[in-house]
Amino acid sequence: MKLVLIGCPGAGKGTQAKMLSKKFGIAHISTGDLLRDQMKRGTELGKKVSEIMNTGGLVSDDIVSAMLAERIKEDDCKKGYILDGYPRNVAQAEGLDDITGPLDKVICYEVADDVIVDRMTGRRSCPECGKMYHLTYNPPKTEGKCDDCGAELIQRKDDNEETVKNRLKVYHETTAPVIDYYRNKGILMTVSGVGDIEDIFNKVASALEGIN
Ligand SMILES: [Zn+2]
Repeated sequence: MKLVLIGCPGAGKGTQAKMLSKKFGIAHISTGDLLRDQMKRGTELGKKVSEIMNTGGLVSDDIVSAMLAERIKEDDCKKGYILDGYPRNVAQAEGLDDITGPLDKVICYEVADDVIVDRMTGRRSCPECGKMYHLTYNPPKTEGKCDDCGAELIQRKDDNEETVKNRLKVYHETTAPVIDYYRNKGILMTVSGVGDIEDIFNKVASALEGIN
């Protein structure tokens, strides 16, 4: 089973990808993780990527494609895989077809922008133990303090309203054509990314039953 998951930052697709990966026994491939992994292992590709990133450049589609092509040959991809965070534009989507062959489904998690802003700007984390909180949905027992270790909670710099809105704008501009691309191929499934995580997962999992 070959899947692509699409969703804006904060839509929860990483969590859903992990659950689907477990349920169907297929690999979860995040291109961000792939890049970091190559750099950590110091491969030829990794060295190239480090160089580009150190000079503030963007890693080209060619490099990411080459990395993906290698990754899907690995053993854990025999039954299939889920791509998370790729493709981000139509050129990448077209290139992806050459690497993977026909995809089975592309799942798009839809969450309204104001919900995302609310989710992300309310996030707080503990700098000591890493525990995550949300001011509304999962607040600490004592305001501003970690339940487990008492440290002062912090907000990630990227989680301020302006940055989040800007990322959403970029997401919509580049991803809308990708969504159309897959809709035209007849393999797009859209699902609401709002509500209970298990409910969202079950909806998608049952739609995927029967695909090999
Ligand atoms: Zn803590």
